[in-house]
This record gives sequence, structure tokens and C-alpha cells, in this order.
Amino acid sequence: MPNEKYDITIIGAGVIGVACAWYLNKAGYSVCIIDKGQAGRGASHANCGLISPSHALPLTMPGVVAKGMKWMLKADSPFYVKPDLNFKKFRWLLKFAGRCNEKDMMQAMIGRKEILDSSRKLYDELFAAEEIDCEWEEQGILFVYKDSKGMHEYEATNKLLNDYDLGATPYSGKELHDFEPALRDDVYGGWHYTMDAHLKPDLLMSEWLRILRDKGVVIKENTEIESMRPEAGKVQCADGEIRTNTIVIATGAWSSDIGKMLGFKIPIQPGKGYSITMSPPKNPVRIPCILQEAKMVVTPFQSAYRLGGTMEFSGFDDSLNPKRLDAIRKNAAEYIKDPEGDLVTEQWCGWRPMTWDGLPIIDQSPAYDNVFIAAGHNMLGLSMAPATGKLITEIIKGDEPHIDARHFKYQNKM
Ligand SMILES: Cc1cc2nc3c(=O)[nH]c(=O)nc-3n(C[C@H](O)[C@H](O)[C@H](O)COP(=O)(O)OP(=O)(O)OC[C@H]3O[C@@H](n4cnc5c(N)ncnc54)[C@H](O)[C@@H]3O)c2cc1C
Repeated sequence: MPNEKYDITIIGAGVIGVACAWYLNKAGYSVCIIDKGQAGRGASHANCGLISPSHALPLTMPGVVAKGMKWMLKADSPFYVKPDLNFKKFRWLLKFAGRCNEKDMMQAMIGRKEILDSSRKLYDELFAAEEIDCEWEEQGILFVYKDSKGMHEYEATNKLLNDYDLGATPYSGKELHDFEPALRDDVYGGWHYTMDAHLKPDLLMSEWLRILRDKGVVIKENTEIESMRPEAGKVQCADGEIRTNTIVIATGAWSSDIGKMLGFKIPIQPGKGYSITMSPPKNPVRIPCILQEAKMVVTPFQSAYRLGGTMEFSGFDDSLNPKRLDAIRKNAAEYIKDPEGDLVTEQWCGWRPMTWDGLPIIDQSPAYDNVFIAAGHNMLGLSMAPATGKLITEIIKGDEPHIDARHFKYQNKM
């Protein structure tokens, strides 16, 4: 690749890198995306596909640490931390535990709400501007409770969220089963959030990448970066040098490695999750359901059906643990009459880019004026992608940000 030169080089072709590329290209910059693997095959590939403004509350809620400890004692639980001597992970977990209080939860919630609400609107704008066939549907999502206890306890959370225009409608008994007939008769209730939507993530990725290529964005796949010299505007790849004015780090769960290459910390841990994709069963759920006690998701796409969940802090171990896959299936059968389709098309794991405060970093890097970070979107990268792309473009151009950028500052993570 002799003499290749771009205004912007984005590292990482997940949904965040792609969203950044779309807005930067729209702003008139020449853009190249580099991925060490296949574009769109990271966490953005087979996640649960929810676009969820309803998920404004972070994981760091009061009481979560005690609950997590209990879960860790069960081999098939939805949460696991591999015991090892990884001090970065240990520090991350301590920081996470320190945030599990009302004040920090609410602070994170305000930032998450801003970026989630903005992204939800920007998806509408994106689909109006581009022909993207990704099985987009706007039916909301249902938080489902098997037991009455959890359903009633959620009333307090709903009241809290109501004050932020994020209220849900409760259903129980006959009303619930009329509303979602695929749920088992012994499922107690559910809270319906109307503002959420869903799409098939792999289709979004392939369509968005096609559009970017059509617009002249260069996408280099299977390209390893050997070194970077931002001060000289150079990125050295295995097959040649790229000259660039600006670098955007959008490497999701792998971002701390890129930070290390450039001499600064990016405190992001990989949070492994699983999904099982199959043909739709005869009686699929009508709308995506979050099975609350089991901490898992069932997403009915038009062309497929997906069960997903679990959170493992076990580094980048890419083995598919059969116990966890079985647990996902078994849990789905606890809530849904006809939980599985006949044909399993994919069993998958991906790494969520987890920050300890539940907020992504969208900011200039601490070491170089021309290096920017767009990473750490936790369990909501798909839901937060458009506003991330728009915000990073505003930051690079020096424009007034459309959302409060202070929530996403690098400094907040130090
Ligand atoms: C089971 C599961 C279910 C989920 N469900 C949802 C959901 O319903 N809704 C939602 O909003 N979010 C969901 N998420 C979270 C969401 O998938 C992530 O937050 C999002 O995909 C992160 O996007 P990203 O672009 O930052 O990372 P990725 O998609 O992982 O992309 C990062 C890219 O960077 C590349 N890369 C890494 N290092 C380098 C390097 N050195 N050089 C070049 N390239 C590099 C990788 O190859 C990869 O392609 C889910 C995640 C999981 C695991």
C-alpha cells in the first residue's frame, strides 16, 4: 500500500468504527478503517440486536456485588469471573464494586440516557437517509418476570425511570398472556418498554459496510497494525504504511492493547457473552423478551431466532462452554412454551467492551492531539453507535457536541 493517505484512520470495524466512519465521511473526510480480522465479526456480529434506550440504568446498581458473588458459585450461572492473577482485571473489578451505589448509578444513568436517546433518533435518520435492510422492528421489548417478587420489586425502578420519561407498562395474568402468548402460563408478569427497537446485527453490519465502500471509505480487513507514530501521521501495518492526519481507536474489548501500543491506559475489560441462533420455532415470541431472573434475551428476528446472555470475565478465551450454552437453552424453556427452533445455525461468543462505570470513552486521547478514542460501550454498543459516530465527528471537527460530552471523557476513567 505505497503512498496511501487518509484524513482519518479508524482502527476497528465493529459497529462503533463503522458508525464513526459514516459520520466522518458525511463530514467530508477521507476515511480508512483497519481491522485485524473480518469487518463486523467482533462483538457486533451475533449480539442480541436490541436498540434499547430503556437500558439507561448501568450494571453498577446497589446490591449487584452480593448478587454477583452468589452467582459465581454456580457453574451455569449468568455471571462468572475467572480466578487468576490478572491485576488489571482485579483493579477494574474493585472500581466497578466502588460504583455500585445510588449516587454513581444515577450519574451514569444520565450519561447513558443522553447517548441512548440520541442514538435511537439517529437510527431513524440513518434509515431515512440510506437503504439498509436489517430487519428493523419497533415493537419495544418486554422485561419478563417468572416470579411475582421480582415483578413487584421492579415497581420502584419503574417509578425512578418514569421521572426520566422511561416508564414501562406492566402486564400480568391474562393480560400478559394475551399480550405475549408465547410465554408459559406460569410466567407471572412483564414490563413493556415501547421506545426500544431491534434489528439483525450482522445484516446492519454488512449493509452499513457496503454503503461505506460505495461512498469511497477504504476498509482493510485481516490487517495487523505493527506500530503507530501519530506525531508523524504514520500507521505501520504488516503490508505497508498508511499516512493519516488523525487516528480513531474503535477496537472495542481489545482497546487496552492499542492504548498500550501508544503508551496510555484504556481500562476496558472483555465481558464474554454467548448467543445461539436458530430457525424460528413454530410459536415464537412476538417481541424481544429479557428473561429477568435468568439474565438472558430472546430476540425474534424475521429470518431467525436468537437466545443470548451470560457475562464472563475470563479474558479472550474463545471456547464455547457447553454448560453455559445449555444453561441459556434451559433458562429459555423456563419462560417460553416453544423455546427453540429446529435448526441451530450459529453458536457464538463475543466480548463486550466493559468499562467499570458503564459509560463509553468518546474523547481525545491523553497522549496525542490527533488520536481519539471511541470504545467501551459495554452491553449497549449497538444501541449507542450512531450518537458515538456523531459525537466523535463533532469532537474532531471542533463543533459544538450534540450531547453532553463530559460524560464520556477519558479523564473520568482515571
Ligand atoms: C451476547 C451479547 C449480546 C449483546 N446484545 C446487545 C444488544 O442487544 N444491544 C446492544 O446495544 N449491544 C449488545 N451487545 C454489546 C455490543 O455487541 C457491543 O457493545 C458492541 O458490539 C461493541 O462494538 P465495537 O465496535 O466497540 O466492538 P467490536 O464489534 O468487537 O469491534 C471491534 C473490532 O476491532 C477489531 N480490532 C481489535 N483489535 C484490533 C487491532 N489491534 N487492529 C485492528 N483491528 C482490531 C476487532 O477485530 C473488531 O472487529 C451484546 C454483546 C454480546 C456479547
